[in-house]
Amino acid sequence: MKPVHTIGGLCVLLLALPLHLAGWGFFAHSYINHQAVFSLPPEMLVFYKPYQSFLTEHAADADRRKFVLRSEAPKHYFDADAYDPAAWPCSWQQATLRWPPETLRRQGILPWNALQVYNQLVSAFRQHDGQRILKLSADLGHYIADACVPLHTCSNYDGQFTGQHGIHALWETDIPERLYPRFQLWVGKAEYLPHPAATIWQIIQESARAADTVLAAEQYLRSHFPRKQKYAYYLRNHTWVHSYSTAYLEAYESLMHDMVERRMRRAIEAVSAFWYTAWVNAGQPDLRNLTEVRFSHADSLEWQALQHFQWNARKERTGSFKE
Ligand SMILES: [Zn+2]
Repeated sequence: MKPVHTIGGLCVLLLALPLHLAGWGFFAHSYINHQAVFSLPPEMLVFYKPYQSFLTEHAADADRRKFVLRSEAPKHYFDADAYDPAAWPCSWQQATLRWPPETLRRQGILPWNALQVYNQLVSAFRQHDGQRILKLSADLGHYIADACVPLHTCSNYDGQFTGQHGIHALWETDIPERLYPRFQLWVGKAEYLPHPAATIWQIIQESARAADTVLAAEQYLRSHFPRKQKYAYYLRNHTWVHSYSTAYLEAYESLMHDMVERRMRRAIEAVSAFWYTAWVNAGQPDLRNLTEVRFSHADSLEWQALQHFQWNARKERTGSFKE
């Protein structure tokens, strides 16, 4: 990505861009990258553990870039239902022979983009480039985690075709943020992936198969759950917020047989496996002498600008900023 140097220029861009498609909420993305570090072998932990806070803080940079770059949004989803399932898995080259690139981009390029970022990470390991390893690991963690979200693999991504607006944030932001303390999210050691491309498509297929359940369970619940108990006030970062009640979130998660917990665990497992596989396929470089990574002034400016836009975008959506 081209470094961003002026906040003023970004303000103009922000006004022109859509603000939907958040991915896992920022909390869940951070949590997934944070937990994935614990599954890495000691040879990688020596580098990843000191930078665990970097991987956590930058887990949602890819989402923040959507506020600035029009080309970023299609990297976060794949409308599996727009295709005959027999058409994929396929490489980007094969896909462009069958569909125009603009159609592919409109319907999302998540699997191809994730694979590209994975390949970039392998070369960053080969080049022993600590800065790029960290930035690409944070981004790869994000895209792999997005692939684990069912609503990122279907065109009805926010229930807009079925009168279920808001289901996207309910599934991937409200439930993880509020229910995660009771989730079991420990996964074992990172596994080596013999065919990373096949694994990405497998994750997409799992998510696509679950999308119907996500929509149907919410549809059922909205007509069977007592209306007066659906919303409540709860304390979020010292501010009272009016939102879904905990009972409603629990009922929804239970109706989906703990799907949010299962997909979050799957995301942690997959992120650690992709980081580990990239390192192995780069020849298992020694990471011990990489512990003094310094980022450029341009990087710092870019991150400040992205934070600023995240803040502004939320303010625009909610009318007030309560965090
Ligand atoms: Zn995303």
